[in-house]
Amino acid sequence: MPVRTKPFPGRPPRFGLDEVLALTAALQRNELWYWHENSVVEAAAKEAANKFAAPYCVATSSGTASLHVAIAAARLEPGTEVVTTPITDAGTINAILYQNLIPVFADVDPDYAMPRVEDIAAVVTKRTGAVIVVHLTGSPIDMDPIVAFCAQRGLVLIEDCAQGLGATYRGKSIGTFGRFGCFSLNDQKHITSGEGGFVLMKEESDFYLCHNYADKYYDRFKQGVRLEALAPNYRMSELDGAMFGVQLHKLDSIVDRRCALGADLDKRFSEIPGIIPQRRTAETKSVFFFYLLRLDAKIIKCSRDEFLEQLLAEGIPARGAYVAEPIYRSPYFLNRSFFPGGVWPAQIVSGQDYDYSAVSLPGAETAVASGISLPLHEGYTITDLDDYISAFTLVAARNY
Ligand SMILES: *Cc1c(COP(=O)(O)O)cnc(C)c1O
Repeated sequence: MPVRTKPFPGRPPRFGLDEVLALTAALQRNELWYWHENSVVEAAAKEAANKFAAPYCVATSSGTASLHVAIAAARLEPGTEVVTTPITDAGTINAILYQNLIPVFADVDPDYAMPRVEDIAAVVTKRTGAVIVVHLTGSPIDMDPIVAFCAQRGLVLIEDCAQGLGATYRGKSIGTFGRFGCFSLNDQKHITSGEGGFVLMKEESDFYLCHNYADKYYDRFKQGVRLEALAPNYRMSELDGAMFGVQLHKLDSIVDRRCALGADLDKRFSEIPGIIPQRRTAETKSVFFFYLLRLDAKIIKCSRDEFLEQLLAEGIPARGAYVAEPIYRSPYFLNRSFFPGGVWPAQIVSGQDYDYSAVSLPGAETAVASGISLPLHEGYTITDLDDYISAFTLVAARNY
């Protein structure tokens, strides 16, 4: 008999009467456009700013849009390098590419699955203008040294918090340490507006910049000049705004439950020889977008893929690390086929040759090759976690 015969639970009902009422109210206005006096998009954005203790918030149409808005508002010249991690969603990277900037990848600590400040420092050059850190799995990256480093080097710091709604570092929400904090509200995330996202920022001038960059540079607050720069349309509609506002109220209970489950898994997985749970920064609250661990090849004698197969045979829906390969190994980087004809304007402007096929980051490659991710959400019970632990204990013991 496999350890697990019945399927793992889906997420408990996420939408109810509150959403229906908020959506109905939005429809009854007979206008889904966000720019008016009683905008629910603006109200939800203010509520988010409040909740995460950030001075300002701009709503966007996706997490990718929030990243693009932030990097655009950093106002870096085309061809400037932006340092980031190769273990992330394509949205992080595509925001850089769309703004005609050059992604440069920092290595990661395999146990941590994120770059340390020294990994970032190792690839910063005089051409670097910004750093985008990613709180992978919703486990806060160690911000203090990175904030200090970026301040000292005059680099814009952007946090990709798409997996970390509700996560904190030294008691403060992630996304409030860098100049911009970017979040996603897509359906996979802790809470959702359908599609959507938002950016947190401290400076009023950044608020206006982000507002403009999310709305074709139409200067709605009349703080500057209309159409002064090129910007896409990343507006959130009033329907998504209605969802955003209601779902914000549901975040705490979702996060509390995931924290408790994740802490239990951390403790129990760390007791199994050969299993290394993602290392966490001290004084943080992780919110477990999913659960990430890796195999210690010195102890586990089979390959990661064989381990995954044996887990599957035990009824455990485990997968590889978050990405199938570090992003620089994806075809669009290997072939530099970002744009048709292989023409990459940012590289031409830079006067440099960015050959990603020559990039080799051993920490990232180890993290990806040895990583295992497990679904985890607020619908799980301790019995579900017991099955994870039993299956890993069994499969590990078979392969010592
Ligand atoms: C989900 C996600 C994004 C992109 O969000 P979308 O809303 O899908 O555009 C960006 N970065 C990370 C780390 C994500 O998990």
